[in-house]
This record gives sequence, structure tokens and C-alpha cells, in this order.
Amino acid sequence: MSQALLVINSGSSSIKFAAYEVQADAALQRIANGRIEGLGEAPRLRVWGHDGGVLEDRCIRLPADPALGPGDAFRQLFDWLRQHAGGRTLLAAGHRVVHGGEVFSQPVRVTPGTLGQLEGLSPLAPLHQPHNLSSIHAITELLPGLAQVACFDTEFHAAQPWVAQAYALPRRITEAGVKRYGFHGLSYEYIASVLPDHLGEPGEGRVVVAHLGNGASLCAMRDRRSVASTMGFSALDGLMMGTRCGNLDPGAVLYLMRSLGMTAPEVEDLLYEQSGLLGVSGISGDMRTLEASPASEARQAIDLYVYRFNQQLGSLAASLGGLDALVFTAGIGENSALVRQRVCHGAAWLGVELDAAANQAAGSGARCISAAGSRVAVWVIPTDEELMIARHTQAVLAAGAPSA
Ligand code: AMP
Repeated sequence: MSQALLVINSGSSSIKFAAYEVQADAALQRIANGRIEGLGEAPRLRVWGHDGGVLEDRCIRLPADPALGPGDAFRQLFDWLRQHAGGRTLLAAGHRVVHGGEVFSQPVRVTPGTLGQLEGLSPLAPLHQPHNLSSIHAITELLPGLAQVACFDTEFHAAQPWVAQAYALPRRITEAGVKRYGFHGLSYEYIASVLPDHLGEPGEGRVVVAHLGNGASLCAMRDRRSVASTMGFSALDGLMMGTRCGNLDPGAVLYLMRSLGMTAPEVEDLLYEQSGLLGVSGISGDMRTLEASPASEARQAIDLYVYRFNQQLGSLAASLGGLDALVFTAGIGENSALVRQRVCHGAAWLGVELDAAANQAAGSGARCISAAGSRVAVWVIPTDEELMIARHTQAVLAAGAPSA
């Protein structure tokens, strides 16, 4: 009988999942993926098959509990999986966990001990980590015997040089964990794993990968290892994002609190939820909406997004001592020809030259979009964080013993 792995990526109002078939001596095959959206409001289960066809799309509100929390959501998901398992048994669940802190620099099998350590890291990512862990708790309650593996967004950056990780703060503060961790690591790790397939030799050189989704960051890689990233202690730093501010003078935070009388939760909401493209445009945090808008505020928001991208690309190119390749991924990186065209135009001084037709051409797979003579190879490569989590989960199970 064949087996399956479930991958979970949970946020505050939605749970994304993907199921993979595991076969001896064969690559993992995605069977289905989906999401439960509107947790706590109007929950909906949507599932797509491996060919992209819709398998399920229905409201899952419970008559007795209109709010539907993660536990109920997983009960409904497991019911659906059981009905559509096709004789496969569920081997394990792999989770995206945003923060591994300084404790976890590789994926780990979840035990009561590791779960306690992961909970101890919640203050480092208070808006994300608790949601990741509540899914682990919910599955533990529903299926206590199921193996679970935690995979971290920080782990790909854990081996960056000390100078890329440290802030210029007193040592006792650094030693208390206030340092640059970097995020989107599962996405970068996936891209690193396929770079040689697509880019050949330049993929092993000085590469900047731009993960441009609702959250956004850049990662500088040499030999396919992370050497610097634009996100730092939190997922707020670096690039301007959908609703997050990116780089901000810490003095501005002190001013907001001291002179404008804002509380810590108010500042948190301002910087995570009300800023970025949304805050600057006053229209939307969604790039597609802004590109379609005739408003000057929408244009200004995109101008600022592009300007700050190019500033930080320059900073990462400096940390690499040059640039051999630039790779775009995630929602904006994979789909916005306009953003790619504008940031590449601003990066001409680095030797980036775009092939305008290739950049505009519709496509969903990995593709080269640089001009034939460009000193820097420019690529679009779709990311696959779920596959990375599935691979890690399989490897942790194969290694056997739980680690801490
Ligand atoms: P993600 O978080 O990776 O799902 O990315 C979401 C972001 O990608 C949003 O800002 C979307 O507007 C943006 N996006 C998706 N498709 C397009 C598109 N065709 N053109 C411009 N932006 C897009």
C-alpha cells in the first residue's frame, strides 16, 4: 500500500496544505493541495488536484460552532483526506514553522520536548509562530500517533557569516538572541536546489534570489548557500512589502511611542498590517490591484517599492562582491513583468540587461529573461516551499531518531 505525507503552512486566518505520495526510490509526487480560508469567519475548504483541477470548494461552517478553530478545521480536512486517500496511509505531517531561533538549525521531529522549545521561541515571531504551533497541537490531539516534523524559515540562513548576522549592539544583547535571522528560508532552499538545473555554472556563483510575495525579501547566495538576506531579526526588515514597512529607522519607532503616544500593539499593527504598498498607496497591498490603478498614489507606491528593491539589491551585491545571476520568485516575482522590468532597469549598472520580449511572455515554468549579452543572468523560477517541507519530512523520518 502506498503512503502519503501532508504538508501544513498555517497562518492567522488560513491553513494551506499539500499532500504528496511517497514511493520507494521515486521522487515525491504531489497528489493535491488546498487551503482552508476564513478561519473564525466564513471558513471554506478548497482543494485542487495535481493537474490544477478543483476537487473541492465548499463552506465548512459547523452549525454548532460558527467560528471554526484550527482543531475543527483539521478534523474536516482529515475527513476529506480519508475519503480521497485512494488506499494510501498517512505517514507524517510536515509543518512550516517560521522561527527556529538559535536552537534549531535543521528540521526536527516534534516531541513534547521540542514543542516546548518551539513555544519558547514565540516571542521572536509573535504574529506567526503561535499559529504554526497551534496546528501541531491540533494534529497531536486528533492523531496522537502521527509523526510530525517542524521545518524552519530561518534555517537556510543559520550558517551566514557572523558579520551578516550581528547588529552593532552590545554583546549581551546579541547573546540574548537579538540578531539577524532571515526568513523565507524554505523558499530559498528550494530555489537553491534547482539553480544548477536551470542556470548551470552561474547558479553556483554570486546569486541574488528575490522572493517577492505579500512578504518579500532578498537572499544573497554563494555556492548556493545563504550569505546575507534583507530580513533581519523579524520579518519586518528589508524590502517594502504588501502591508509591512521594510527598513525603518528604529528612532522612528521610539518617536511613535514616545511622542505620538502609540502603544506597542498599535505600533505592531501599524508596521505589520497598515504599511508597505497598502500604507503608501492608501488603496491596496496587492501589487496586481496597484498596477491596474490609475491613481498617482498607486504609482508612487510602486515607485518606492522599486527604489528600495534596487537599493537593497545593491547592498547584497556588495556583500557578494558582484553579481552573476538574479532570480525572481513568488507571486510578484513570478507574475509581474512590470516590477521585473523596472527593477532590472535600475540594476543596469550591475550588468543586468533584460530581454523585453522574454520578460513579457506569459509562462508558468522556470525561464531565462535576460538578454543574450547580459553579464548577469536573469531568471524567473517558481518556488515550491511545500515540496521542500515534504522532502525534509521524508528525510527526518528516514533518519529515524528524533533530534533536539
Ligand atoms: P504570494 O504571497 O506569493 O501569493 O504573492 C502575492 C502577491 O503577488 C500579491 O501582491 C499579488 O498582487 C501579486 N501578484 C500575483 N499575480 C500577479 C500578477 N499577474 N501581476 C502582478 N502581481 C501579481
